[in-house]
Amino acid sequence: MGGNACAGVILNDFDRELSERLEGLRRQGLSRQLNRVDSAQSPQIEVGGRTLLNFSSNDYLGLANDPILKEAACKAVEKYGAGAGASRLICGSLAPHAELDEAIAAFKGTAAALSFSTGYAAGVGTICALLDKNDVSIIDELVHACIVDAVRLSGAKLRVFEHNNVADLERKLTWAKERPSEAKENDRKPRVLVVTESVFSMDGDLAPLREMVELKEKYGAWLMVDEAHATGLYGENRRGLVEELGVSERIEVQMGTLGKALGASGGYICGSKALVDYLVNRARSFVFSTAPVPAAAAAATAGIRFVQSAAGRERRDLLWQRLAELRPNPKSAIVPIIIGDEAKAVEAAGALRERGIFIPAIRYPTVARGEARLRVTVTAAHTSADLEKLRAKLKTLGIVF
Ligand SMILES: *Cc1c(COP(=O)(O)O)cnc(C)c1O
Repeated sequence: MGGNACAGVILNDFDRELSERLEGLRRQGLSRQLNRVDSAQSPQIEVGGRTLLNFSSNDYLGLANDPILKEAACKAVEKYGAGAGASRLICGSLAPHAELDEAIAAFKGTAAALSFSTGYAAGVGTICALLDKNDVSIIDELVHACIVDAVRLSGAKLRVFEHNNVADLERKLTWAKERPSEAKENDRKPRVLVVTESVFSMDGDLAPLREMVELKEKYGAWLMVDEAHATGLYGENRRGLVEELGVSERIEVQMGTLGKALGASGGYICGSKALVDYLVNRARSFVFSTAPVPAAAAAATAGIRFVQSAAGRERRDLLWQRLAELRPNPKSAIVPIIIGDEAKAVEAAGALRERGIFIPAIRYPTVARGEARLRVTVTAAHTSADLEKLRAKLKTLGIVF
């Protein structure tokens, strides 16, 4: 009994401290909570007993609830069961995982590809496998948290260049080149890895990949491009922005997620066979983690095959048509409405929700402090009428596109 009472005191103290920290977040307008969704992912979602028009999903091609992907997932469950049982390197590398890796490489037109349980795991595992404390990573200031976390974890020196600013990137590359090496005699040659997204997740703008490729080649650096918001949407074969800009062959590491336009779950890395063989050996998030469930791998493969098909082309074209209805000359499917103040952004999101529109406020630490926003995403599953409704509701709040 005494033991329990003691544990209770400790836990109360623990909970009290966490409650205080949470209160601090609330005061700054930075507190977050989960919204339970009682329906499948689609333009209409059920939240709190109401049907809301959803403009916050990354399911850009409307595949997350597509019958083709669902059927592939069900078939995989029937044949391969619910769980993979072990990591890929032990006995969990099931046929759906092998098929997925092959499908990604064929889709992307690279020699090889490797799927991970999430895009986050792909980023962390890959950067930590490639870099150690003698290396340097130069990243765009707006790259995804998984890249920042990865570089920190790798121990490499971190330099940040101004968003999409190639002149600033060149300054950082020059610094890296001239820096005295701390490597010991037997260490391998120190490396420089530049990392950017191709389409930026919270701003929807595009990286100047051609200029960046020229620069990294000039300085002998490596380049890693995260295509999370571009895969399925750009290029003749919907491979991504690197295809559209014709730089696919000149990028050492391409990365992305299977959970956005591809409609399923997981992450991937693609590039050379040496890269993939190396990651199988050294990417700790791959080596030390149970393989994804067979259903996820099979759904992702079905999503990739759909995107590659004529129907996938039509779906992609439909998305761009919808985007053009919202704003002329769209660059991506992400349309940020910058509010600035965190509390005001939360208020705007709440007012939209009352009017039947679901767009949560995006705040620090997802974006910088004072740059809170409504991040509108359009999918191919939205209708012209949906967009009209969005425009009308935003207008009642004084927000005009
Ligand atoms: C979503 C996202 C990731 C992470 O992918 P998950 O599969 O969701 O873990 C990585 N990078 C960017 C830019 C993303 O937007």
